[in-house]
Amino acid sequence: MRRVFRNSVALVSLALMLAMPAHAKLQILASIKPLALIAQEVAGDQAEVTTLLPITASPHDYPLKMSDHKRLRAADMVLWIGPELESFLARPLANLPTDKLVTGYRLAGLHWPEMMVDGHHHGSHTHAGKDPHLWLDPRNAVVIAEAIAERLAQLQPASAMQFRANVQRFSTAAALLDGQLARQLESVKEVGFAVYHEGYGHFVGRYGLHQIAYVTYAPERRPGAKHLRELRNLLASEGECLFMEPYYKAQGMEEMAESLQLRIGFLDPIGDQQISTYQQLLQQLGDSFLTCLADRSVH
Ligand SMILES: [Zn+2]
Repeated sequence: MRRVFRNSVALVSLALMLAMPAHAKLQILASIKPLALIAQEVAGDQAEVTTLLPITASPHDYPLKMSDHKRLRAADMVLWIGPELESFLARPLANLPTDKLVTGYRLAGLHWPEMMVDGHHHGSHTHAGKDPHLWLDPRNAVVIAEAIAERLAQLQPASAMQFRANVQRFSTAAALLDGQLARQLESVKEVGFAVYHEGYGHFVGRYGLHQIAYVTYAPERRPGAKHLRELRNLLASEGECLFMEPYYKAQGMEEMAESLQLRIGFLDPIGDQQISTYQQLLQQLGDSFLTCLADRSVH
C-alpha cells in the first residue's frame, strides 16, 4: 500500500513537471546589431538575443512595423542607445516599463570624444548633443556590458555569477582589442580623411585619428552645396582618403575623390552578416581605416 502511494506521488509530480512549460529563456531585444553582439557575450546561452533593425536600415530613421511593436512588448529586456540615435523608438519605448529598458546613452561611466568637427548648423537632426555611436569605443562597450549583466542578474538571479564572469571575460578581450587597435593605427594618425557620416567620433577620438571632415551629418541627409564646397577644400588641402558606407551613396563623391586623387575606403559601424562578435566588428573597422590610410603608394 505504501509503495503504491509513493509511486503515485512520483507519478503525480512527474505529470506536474511535464505539464509545466519548459523554462522559457530570457528574451533580449537590441535595437541595433552592435548592442546585440555585446548582449550575446554577457548572456551566453542564458538568453535569446535578437536585433530589431535589419542591418541595412539606418538606425536614425526606421519605420516600425506592428510586429516590431509586438516584439518590444514581448521582450524581457530592450536595449537601445537612446533618442539621440534611434529617435523613432522614443515614443514606443515610453510605453514600456522603465525597468525593462537599458538605455546606453544614459549610462554612467561612458567615455565621450571631444568634438572633432563642428561649427555647422545641424537643425533638428537627431545627432543633437554628443556623438551617440558610443559602441565604437571599446571602453564603452564594457560599460554597456556591465549594465546588461546587472539587469540580467535581477531578471535571473540564479545565473548572476555566470553573467558577471561573462562580463569579466568580455572586458578582458575588449581591453586587449583596444590596445591592439591603438598599436595598429599608430602609424596612420597623421593621415587626413573624411568620413561619409558623422558617426565615428568615438573611434576616431579613441585612437587619435585625423578626421578633417564628413560628407553628411546623418546618412539619410543630402549634403548641401556649401558644405560640399567646404568638404572639397578641406580634402584638397590635407585629405588622402574618403570613407563611404556600404548602404548609402552620395552623388559626386567618386568624382570628387578621383579629381583630388583620394583613395576610397568603406566603413560599416553596424556590422554586416559576416560579423558575429563585437571584437570582429571593431577589428573590421580598424582594418578599414588602416587599409585606406596606410596606402601612400598613390602619391
Ligand atoms: Zn549615425
